[in-house]
Amino acid sequence: MTEMGSKVRVVVLGGGTAGWMTAASLIRLLPDTASVDLIESEDIGIVGVGEATLPHIRGFVEKLGIDEAAFMKATHATFKLGIDFRDFGRIGESYIHPFGSFGEEVAGIGFHHYWLELQRQGRAAPLGDYSLAVAAARANRFAPPAQDHTLASTYGYAYQFDATLFGPFMREFACRHGVTRHEGLMVEVERDGASGNVTALLLADGRRIEGDLFVDCSGFRSLLLGQTLGEEWEDWTHWLPCDRAAAMPCTHATQDIRPFTIATAMPAGWRWQIPLQHRMGNGYVFSSAHISEDEACAAIKAAAEGDPLAEPRILKFRPGRRKHSWSHNVVAVGLASGFLEPLESTSIYLAQMAITYLIELFPDQGGIDPRDVAEFNRLVDVEYDRVRDFLILHYNATTRDDSEFWNHVRTMQVPDTLADKLELWRKAARIEKYADGLFFDASWIAVYVGQGLLPERHDARVALADPARVAGALERLRGAIAAEVAAMPGHLDFLRGESGRLAPEDALAA
Ligand SMILES: Cc1cc2nc3c(=O)[nH]c(=O)nc-3n(C[C@H](O)[C@H](O)[C@H](O)COP(=O)(O)OP(=O)(O)OC[C@H]3O[C@@H](n4cnc5c(N)ncnc54)[C@H](O)[C@@H]3O)c2cc1C
Repeated sequence: MTEMGSKVRVVVLGGGTAGWMTAASLIRLLPDTASVDLIESEDIGIVGVGEATLPHIRGFVEKLGIDEAAFMKATHATFKLGIDFRDFGRIGESYIHPFGSFGEEVAGIGFHHYWLELQRQGRAAPLGDYSLAVAAARANRFAPPAQDHTLASTYGYAYQFDATLFGPFMREFACRHGVTRHEGLMVEVERDGASGNVTALLLADGRRIEGDLFVDCSGFRSLLLGQTLGEEWEDWTHWLPCDRAAAMPCTHATQDIRPFTIATAMPAGWRWQIPLQHRMGNGYVFSSAHISEDEACAAIKAAAEGDPLAEPRILKFRPGRRKHSWSHNVVAVGLASGFLEPLESTSIYLAQMAITYLIELFPDQGGIDPRDVAEFNRLVDVEYDRVRDFLILHYNATTRDDSEFWNHVRTMQVPDTLADKLELWRKAARIEKYADGLFFDASWIAVYVGQGLLPERHDARVALADPARVAGALERLRGAIAAEVAAMPGHLDFLRGESGRLAPEDALAA
């Protein structure tokens, strides 16, 4: 490490979404502690997909002091209230996993227990009717949530943006705040013979960039953590067999833009539809063990609703993660650390969390404390494991038996951590409680119920409540949600409105 009083020299390798998010965060949030250099190579480019996000990204935008309207305009972003899952549990059925709650707890008992009781009596409306986020999404309406404790505060939102525009936006922001950018191909890594730490990166034209801490954002190549330090890969293909995507943008088929992502199950995986201001993102995430790349390309072409704007592009990936994301003085963020398929739009979130933990555990001039490294790796593990289990649930909780792929995922052995969660739910409608990590009660309930996994029983205490009163309360909630939605502007109208979020060159700006 450097002398007392001087800054920790951070070198970020890679200028994709992960690289620029890391560089911008470090320079903005640790201005007196870190200096930041970033190396990127136009010859290699970025993955350039990754268009749907989770609500946590708003915290990122806010914390860095980025103006939301300017950001949305620059990245042609739309609002996202959740994901509409179609044909997952059973062909012909769909449900929305919302960024928001279903009803609220009464007398310390979760809302879903009351709903299950009414459902048992044959008196319940679909669960989604009790979620403002679901109802607004279904009506194509959007308004920012209220900041109080009223019904209008019971949801959140994320963005759907053009991944090829997000990087440049973050680059401009980061460089304006003091990040030094180096365009060039990194060809060699210098290491200290004794500690094994990385000391400098050499570029093809001879430039040498020295640092104290290196953040590997080199994407799937994982040049520092994987290739240089040889950090072991934990493969999760047996649980998440999808290993390819055929991505193809197309025009909007309608003059409206949905405030949500659609994920439709396919014979060998699923396909996404992500509405941006200027186009629709489409992609078929598939298992190459079950269909060929040509078949997947043909399927996505056939399924796209608008006119294709490009030929399908194949992206290859391996589901899993590096055993440790921080080793020596190298921290991997983004695809260099691991990848879980985009079914729940979690990859940018995982990068964001790694950045947050890195900032919390950032080394001081005294050097890197191994306890901080261990804690960072523990926190990252928790995040990955949670996301993994939640993704597997979407495949495993199904009655589909119409293809080899669905037969495989329906009957496979799931991780013990997921098996325990499933058991809790099946027996008594319980959700495993945890404080850290992603996906809390409403998310699990949305998928369990949405995919037809109903529990044997629910909390016995709900039987003590007067059934007529419970039914009345739920009906009033439905009514209040419907009224709230009716008062919201249409999603496109909101984007078009005075907020200045619509990019002027977009066809839909008119
Ligand atoms: C099919 C698919 C769909 C996805 N959808 C979503 C989604 O909906 N939501 C979501 O959150 N995430 C999604 N993701 C993940 C998302 O795309 C990534 O998390 C995100 O783009 C971050 O990528 P990255 O920055 O780690 O890597 P990359 O974009 O690959 O960037 C790597 C960088 O490293 C640089 N580099 C590499 N080697 C060198 C070298 N030798 N010298 C110099 N520079 C080098 C490159 O130039 C580039 O700048 C998706 C991913 C895939 C594959």
